[in-house]
Amino acid sequence: MDPAMSEQIEAVREMVIRFMQTEVVPVMEDFEQRGEFPRDLIKKAGDAGIYGAIFPESVGGSNLGYLAATVVQEEMGRLDVRFAACNNQQGSTCPSCIYMGGTAEQVMKYVPNLIAGETIGMMSLTEPSSGSDAAGAMKTVARRDGDVYRINGQKMWASMANQTDVGVLLAKTDPSAGPRGITAFIVEPKKYPGFTAKPIEMLGLSNALRTNVVFLDDFIVPVENRLGAEGDGFKIIMRVLQAGRVTVAGKALGVARACFEDAVRYANEREIRGQPIGKFQMIQADIAEMACAIEASRALVYKAAWCMDESLPSNRLSAIAKYHASQTAKLCADKAQQIFGGYGMAREYRVSWLKSYADLFFTGEGSANIQKILIAEDALGYKVADRHHGRTGLRDIRKNDVADELKQKAG
Ligand SMILES: Cc1cc2nc3c(=O)[nH]c(=O)nc-3n(C[C@H](O)[C@H](O)[C@H](O)COP(=O)(O)OP(=O)(O)OC[C@H]3O[C@@H](n4cnc5c(N)ncnc54)[C@H](O)[C@@H]3O)c2cc1C
Repeated sequence: MDPAMSEQIEAVREMVIRFMQTEVVPVMEDFEQRGEFPRDLIKKAGDAGIYGAIFPESVGGSNLGYLAATVVQEEMGRLDVRFAACNNQQGSTCPSCIYMGGTAEQVMKYVPNLIAGETIGMMSLTEPSSGSDAAGAMKTVARRDGDVYRINGQKMWASMANQTDVGVLLAKTDPSAGPRGITAFIVEPKKYPGFTAKPIEMLGLSNALRTNVVFLDDFIVPVENRLGAEGDGFKIIMRVLQAGRVTVAGKALGVARACFEDAVRYANEREIRGQPIGKFQMIQADIAEMACAIEASRALVYKAAWCMDESLPSNRLSAIAKYHASQTAKLCADKAQQIFGGYGMAREYRVSWLKSYADLFFTGEGSANIQKILIAEDALGYKVADRHHGRTGLRDIRKNDVADELKQKAG
């Protein structure tokens, strides 16, 4: 058992490992071959409590916190990161936006179903010309028309958008107001017209859980589905992305461990000149470098997640953890592929495609450069990374229980 872990969190780890080994690993490759979305598996994962760690019991979560959520991501990333591609939509960014920014009624209507895997989520911020500078270059516009908004524009890299029942989408309600003109909406693409999602062909990423370009053509969103006031959207999404960063780091750590485990096994099995290649010192050097990087990442990731749960300053540490863990994933994917030689390029061996996931975690949800800017600006005294401390995690934002809020309103 890791000394940083409680028995409760180790029990969560065991539960996730069992779930992945019995329900996901035996069938995921078949879903990939068929290009079929594993909807029933997501429901099973929801039933098992996989997506609920950061949410309170009143909305169907387990209230175990960010360290538990990070461990869940780590083990899913290790055992089959392709299936873990929807964790954000079901258990992190999408329901967190609703939980942090929504009314008690909105939270109760949408969050329990998302974390139960009953409905498929989405969080769509990025656009063709706005990624890292999401606020500055956003072009999608939402215009109020009586009881609805009509949204026009294009979104990019919207994961699960081709399957989404309930998502969160960011658009400008005041294009002249910069970040303060951005509003967040709960969207229901299957219920209202004007939303078209087209999966993007990706090299090495899942063929079953897809990321999409989305065309919005007078897409209807009822006014009652707005999260907070007009202009609150950027504040909501920044808090959510900050809070979720450490869990992405957990997934990257899982990918690094998967590469390491495969490399060790292969180095012991593959023989050249009558001995396993693991006996060669240059292979040993690679194995040692991977082991060191993984242990360092693990310590950083767990510490950052623990700080989140203890309401200690965590933003700077989470940026360091995400940067380090995604670097570690890239290093381990690269070294594992080298150890596998030519077989490391054959799709049959997962090290061939784990590299694409390492690249994804290096870039997605705040690229490596953006993390480095945050870390360096803090170190240089230009901008304190933890200036929003106390306004980051779910518990910081919504201190009252949602069920109590509803009871108070009713009576
Ligand atoms: C598979 C996949 C799934 C995704 N899923 C989602 C999703 O569900 N929802 C969603 O909203 N988005 C999603 N994304 C988008 C993802 O978060 C963005 O790709 C990421 O934020 C980077 O944006 P970009 O790709 O536009 O790169 P850019 O912002 O164009 O960056 C290009 C390069 O410039 C660097 N750079 C940027 N700014 C600076 C700077 N100031 N100084 C130095 N270097 C800089 C970056 O580090 C990067 O190396 C997904 C992306 C992928 C690939």
